[in-house]
Amino acid sequence: MNTHTRRDFLQSLSLGTAFLLPQNRILNTINPKNNTVLNIALVGLGSYATHQLAPAFAHTKNCKLAGIVSGSPSKVEIWKKKYNIPDKNVYNYSNFDEIAHNPDIDVVYVVLPNAMHHEFVIRAAKAGKHVICEKPMAVSVKEAQEMIAECKKAGVRLMIGYRLHYEPFTQEIMRLSKGQDHGKVKFIEASFGWRNRDTKAWRMQQKLSGGGALMDVGIYAINACRYATGEEPNFVTAQSVKTEPSVYIDIEETMMWQLHFPSGAISQSTSTYNGNIQRLFVSYEQGFLEMSPAYDYGPLKGRTSKGAMDFPVIYHQVAMLDGMAEEILHKLPSKASGEEGLQDMKIIEAIYQSASQGGAPIKIS
Ligand code: NDP
Repeated sequence: MNTHTRRDFLQSLSLGTAFLLPQNRILNTINPKNNTVLNIALVGLGSYATHQLAPAFAHTKNCKLAGIVSGSPSKVEIWKKKYNIPDKNVYNYSNFDEIAHNPDIDVVYVVLPNAMHHEFVIRAAKAGKHVICEKPMAVSVKEAQEMIAECKKAGVRLMIGYRLHYEPFTQEIMRLSKGQDHGKVKFIEASFGWRNRDTKAWRMQQKLSGGGALMDVGIYAINACRYATGEEPNFVTAQSVKTEPSVYIDIEETMMWQLHFPSGAISQSTSTYNGNIQRLFVSYEQGFLEMSPAYDYGPLKGRTSKGAMDFPVIYHQVAMLDGMAEEILHKLPSKASGEEGLQDMKIIEAIYQSASQGGAPIKIS
């Protein structure tokens, strides 16, 4: 892997936003106040917002961290100073709706526990703001559909925090799905898991997480199978395994599943909270692609049967934020739309359903 300079990094950002625009995406009707920079408010100042998103704004060219929404007054004081955020752009979960009257916020970015996404995306849409929502976009298909419908009704964009869609290794996998280099995809192995023992955390509580590792990181493996094939699966089969019910009380511990695609391609995946795994293997008619790590903040690493994958190592969140801002500012289709998130939710729901029926095939509608 090359050593990359800041200049390479910045070049890669503009490159990264240039390729592969899916055609079937909704366009927004509301224009931001300023037509060169979008002002973003982060909702939920937890780990991802603190360590990845907020620092990214020091490098973005199309967007600015302009506001915060938090239930923790102590965090608010620190963030106000650190990011120079004025009092008028600070909200809590009760007075959040007043953001509707704040012309200095263009976009609301929801970084809350999964089960809170639905409520806050809908409140943001009703306030007339474009919305970025973290993955998984919701905890059910029904919620995801309601979120899309509310955003459409309000004339605002809904985008999901799929940072990999703005990242060059992933964009190469999408390109390879078209078959010019190695032929069609035949088999995929895509897995993501980590050892999570924190029984008190929201990720371990069904009510706030909507599920276990499948919701949290399995979603990356699902999304990878979709972008590696460029297809949507017809049906899914799945098996759930629990070896430590006292730790993984009301969520699954390990899920294994198979996606069956119209072309005949088949994928096998595992997500777990009881082991570390992070890889993507794609077997084509001729040759293969192998990545590990394949989904985290990087540096991502991979090779194909033709040699090493040599792509720029970039700050995913910077590329994503600037990419999304560009899509809004220039009325381009969204790479990571609400519909993209909904498709993953349909597959997640089908996986849970299949596992609960002893691995029965479940059609994806
Ligand atoms: P954290 O637990 O670190 O942060 C969540 C924040 O939400 C809290 O700090 C808190 O902020 C707020 N909150 C409000 N109500 C609750 C509640 N009842 N319980 C817990 N927190 C609450 O989670 P993460 O930052 O790791 O994850 C947040 C979201 O981001 C998830 O949907 C996750 O899937 C996603 N994520 C995405 C990643 C990616 O790469 N795209 C990576 C990591 C996470 P406050 O104190 O300000 O109110």
